[in-house]
Amino acid sequence: MHIIFGYELDSASFPDALGQEMACQGTAVLGPHGLLGVVETSLGLSGMQVPQAVRIGQYLKRLREFDDGGRFYSRSMQADAWSVAKQLLTWRDELVIAGWQRGVPKGASPRLRDLTAVEQLHHLELAPGIGDRLNNAIGTLNSTRKLDIQLIQLIEPRLSLPQSWGRLFNALLQCDVRVEEVEKTVFDFADHDISDLNILRRALQGEKPDPGSIRVDGSMTILRGADKYEVSEALASWLEVRDLSKVLIIRGNGSFVLNDALHAHNLPGLGSESRSRWRTALQVLPLILSNHWEPFDPQRLLEILTLPKSPIPRWAARYFEKSLRDHPGIGGPKWKEAWESVVANYQAKASGKEDAALPKGSVEAFQENLSFWLGERRYDPKQGMPTAVIRDICTKVANWASTRGGLENDELLITSAALANAAGDSVAASGLDKVTLPQLNRILDSVMGEGLENPVDFPQAAPWSQVETPGQVWGSADTVVWWNFTSSGVDQRRIPWTLAEREALCSVGVNLEDTRQARLREAGYWRKPVAAAAKQLVLVIPESISGEVAVPHPFWDEIRYLLKLNEAEIQKLSFNAQELWKNHTTKVIDSLINRNSVPEVSIAAPYREWSIPPVCILPREGESASSLFKLIQCPLSWVFQYIAKLYPGDLLALPGVSQILGTLSHFIIETMVSESSKWNPDEAERRALQLYDEYVPKIAAVLDHPGRELEKLRHRQQVGQAVKRLFSLIEAANLQIVGYEVKKERSFIEGKVLEGRIDLILASSEGESIVLDLKWAKKARYKGEELREGKALQLATYGWLLEGEEGRFPAGGYYMLAQGELLVSSCPLFPDPNVIHDVNLEDVWQRSLNAYRHRLKQLQNGLALAEGIEDFAESESPTEKQEIAEVEDSLELGARCEWCAFLNLCGARG
Ligand code: SF4
Repeated sequence: MHIIFGYELDSASFPDALGQEMACQGTAVLGPHGLLGVVETSLGLSGMQVPQAVRIGQYLKRLREFDDGGRFYSRSMQADAWSVAKQLLTWRDELVIAGWQRGVPKGASPRLRDLTAVEQLHHLELAPGIGDRLNNAIGTLNSTRKLDIQLIQLIEPRLSLPQSWGRLFNALLQCDVRVEEVEKTVFDFADHDISDLNILRRALQGEKPDPGSIRVDGSMTILRGADKYEVSEALASWLEVRDLSKVLIIRGNGSFVLNDALHAHNLPGLGSESRSRWRTALQVLPLILSNHWEPFDPQRLLEILTLPKSPIPRWAARYFEKSLRDHPGIGGPKWKEAWESVVANYQAKASGKEDAALPKGSVEAFQENLSFWLGERRYDPKQGMPTAVIRDICTKVANWASTRGGLENDELLITSAALANAAGDSVAASGLDKVTLPQLNRILDSVMGEGLENPVDFPQAAPWSQVETPGQVWGSADTVVWWNFTSSGVDQRRIPWTLAEREALCSVGVNLEDTRQARLREAGYWRKPVAAAAKQLVLVIPESISGEVAVPHPFWDEIRYLLKLNEAEIQKLSFNAQELWKNHTTKVIDSLINRNSVPEVSIAAPYREWSIPPVCILPREGESASSLFKLIQCPLSWVFQYIAKLYPGDLLALPGVSQILGTLSHFIIETMVSESSKWNPDEAERRALQLYDEYVPKIAAVLDHPGRELEKLRHRQQVGQAVKRLFSLIEAANLQIVGYEVKKERSFIEGKVLEGRIDLILASSEGESIVLDLKWAKKARYKGEELREGKALQLATYGWLLEGEEGRFPAGGYYMLAQGELLVSSCPLFPDPNVIHDVNLEDVWQRSLNAYRHRLKQLQNGLALAEGIEDFAESESPTEKQEIAEVEDSLELGARCEWCAFLNLCGARG
């Protein structure tokens, strides 16, 4: 076997193993990890590699075992044990790779002595890291071992490598492996070449350039732009007109912005480092775990229920989703209803009454499984969750992800299964009985922090060559493009050991690599692209990245210094990507790029008058107060909602606090009315407070969250007062409750039905009724105004529904719970301050009916008006004006576009 080795060649290389060949056998280009793998395989040492997070857990167990409260890490462990274990394991691994044999001289610092003692705890497992593997391989190699490696060619000097790897080469030499240095990237320049690039090469070799020798001949260019978008467009435009087979691109982590620009110019994408911890497949485990903590968070469960791929079957998730949107809590009446529906549905499916795929197993097993995923058992974050439970959750998530991933050929899901197992193993390896919330988050961070690659974000087949880092270049290309030539990604090295500690370590054979040595090696890599570019070097520098100022690469300082470049020369060497947008034809670096303007298209003005096929809209089978309201307010929104059946996406939104409090108050009053129709105000308050305490976790769980204690207390008082005041008003008016949440319907127009659910019906001893609607509106003002202006269509509708039974039109009113305020239409049942005498609901109803008929006629004539859109052509809409004039005494309701779900659809947003 023939190996070409470079310290940076683990992930990419230019040229690759094939070089110029169509195919070759027995040649591999490898970096340190690849070489170690080959040696281990030859020696029969390869085995399963343990995830680093599991090693951290194992090391944590060792640290805890040795911790008697007096160790150098003891106090830090109390604050954040996982992070301490992670950091100390990194130090330990660095020492091992540098040759540490687990010993320190007498007089070594306490932390070195403590680490040594921890190393002696052999009875506690610690899976090998790369240093252990390297030492093991070196220890096993000897002159009697024959390896299937004949030749290793080093593309960089052996002495420049860290000593640990130098030791491996020494051992390989003893096994008759030929090791030779073939540094291909020596500066190769012709004396007569006076290009800017060659002047730079000579300068890097130590020659001093003559002042003014830079000619700006295009052999060395800086492509600048305000951001990645600008430079990507300029680079893609330039690449489009070149012979790409002779181009080498150093892409770093790549960029999706650059990929998009390349695609827009019909060029293949470079791929990009697309690791993200936010991929959906990775969200399942953290979400399921977080749903097992107290207090219950309805938003978290909603996220689980609405995951694109959730362990909870979609059909069942819908019931719980609806329950959460109605009553954001767990264990309340809606939650129980959801469970009943799900179980009934499951039984129906299981007994084959439905066509859908049948869930397998018994009802009990199904319920138990579902209950697990819904997280109905919770743990206190401070006390911690038992390790066994966490492991169980991780295993279940892993099993689900691997099964579903396998069935759907979903790579991300399969990988996430492995990570879930690793998380479970890490927790178990730590030896902890319980894991607190912050500890668990740290563990998940270690396991999943790096995230997963996007499987579709890979480099596409391209005529050019590409590498990730300059250290991977060891051949020559006509043009070398260094993308994102900035300091982002340049490593900040720091050694944690003091000078005395390093000397102590050195005395026992630990040769930690000098920072300077590492820096020099890295600086050597930066020079490689200059050496490799036969004709042209392009350095691409965006001035900002993600809104942050980007600093040019440190190698730029060296170039400027060596060439003694002044600002004027730098300007001449630079091409500003903005120039591309200034003219039809622009010279980009060395090529003329033509750009054509696209004609401007103005956005269409929103329509006020929408045409619909005449007579296609008939009165619906049933109407309600809200559908009447909508039709009168804005016919177009009514058509969207009730005819086209459009509805806004639910997204992940739960109701706001106001809405939740309204629901909770309704539920409390409903429960109280079901217990007794007559309440003494003080008793009513007491009972309301009891019910509040009992049902907040079941209906309004969000109020139970840490940090909302004061808010919860304030709302408790408000609800108690609201109920007390309501029953005081009823008592003072000497009225009886005759109905709560009563559903009524009445035959309407052309045999259609009008229906409504009335919150509260009260009656006097003389049999006179009044309907009340209970609102938890922060701004009671709107409801008051609506009633005063004779626009309370909802109350008028309820009144008309009741009139059918009682033979006379009852009054109606709003009771504003949050304010404890009552406002009613003209009636003798309540004292004057509560009554608006000039509003008669029967009149309101008559005007509503006129308006309804008019709107319906308009629709049947083929016109759906968007009432919220200004009538720019007022004089040109005589039809509408005339028709409106014809309708006498009709209710007018202004469109409330700010609350309308179709704002973007009709164009009213502008
Ligand atoms: S946004 Fe306004 S105009 Fe548009 S449909 Fe809704 S209410 Fe009508």
